[in-house]
Amino acid sequence: MTSLATLSGRVAVITGGASGIGQATAILFAQHGARVFVGDYRLSRESEQTLASHGIRASACDVRNVAELQRLVDQAATTSGRLDILVNNAGIGMVKQIQEVSEEDWDNCLDTNFKAAFFGAKFAIPHLIRSGGGSIVNTASNAGLLPRAHDPVYSISKMALIGLTKSLALCHAKDRIRVNSVCPGPVCDTGMMNADLEAAADRAATEQRFIAASPLAQAFGRMSRPDEIAAAILYLVSDAACMVTGTALAIDGGKSLGVPPSL
Ligand code: NAD
Repeated sequence: MTSLATLSGRVAVITGGASGIGQATAILFAQHGARVFVGDYRLSRESEQTLASHGIRASACDVRNVAELQRLVDQAATTSGRLDILVNNAGIGMVKQIQEVSEEDWDNCLDTNFKAAFFGAKFAIPHLIRSGGGSIVNTASNAGLLPRAHDPVYSISKMALIGLTKSLALCHAKDRIRVNSVCPGPVCDTGMMNADLEAAADRAATEQRFIAASPLAQAFGRMSRPDEIAAAILYLVSDAACMVTGTALAIDGGKSLGVPPSL
């Protein structure tokens, strides 16, 4: 019997795949038989080698640049003769209050986290239709379900991304295109989390605060890992989820359920 999670013969584009959740997703897709194309604006030799060792093609792409995004999507589809999956995963944080936010900060965050997903979908949809349907997954965040006081622009970008997910899911079900989002809580071993921890005055205490914020992270004594988010994305793009669209799947150890019990 064929596994419902097989991606054999499928072609996938993943943005922000040089590290963290995107890299874990690219590797998991490749291990499940997909031909994977990664675009990232920060490709180190190490990440290129890691991706190449799994047969994944990586190319330079700044997703804020719509022409570069179109080239990434079109090249994957043209080289492979089809496109089945797009994961809009590239993202940046923005920890600033409104009075400190410049127009450049706003554009940088919204263009990366939100606008790129819209245009990525715009360029992918015609290819997905030619393939008989397909799947788009947007990496949103827990902040898209419950906005946070410390990073309003990031929260707004991820709430907008969930709105985009639902809207495009509604518009393109007729084309057999499913559009879903994942909403991770704090994830260890990612560029984003490492930057937060490096900036913290007390790294260990900050790490404990992230863990304390979600009941399952408390119970396991650790944050989520990138491969655990990748597993949820694999499910969403697989045939096992053929009737699932428009969702915002929380993978946050219960962080968005409410205030967790104190440690
Ligand atoms: P990460 O920093 O390891 O990965 C983000 C990737 O996106 C990096 O490789 C980076 O180079 C790339 N990127 C950023 N801006 C880009 C641009 N303009 N063009 C092309 N590539 C760009 O961190 P991560 O946690 O793996 O982040 C992946 C996604 O997960 C992001 O959308 C982030 O908002 C989301 N997320 C992360 C966490 C967490 O705790 N780490 C929690 C919730 C959501």
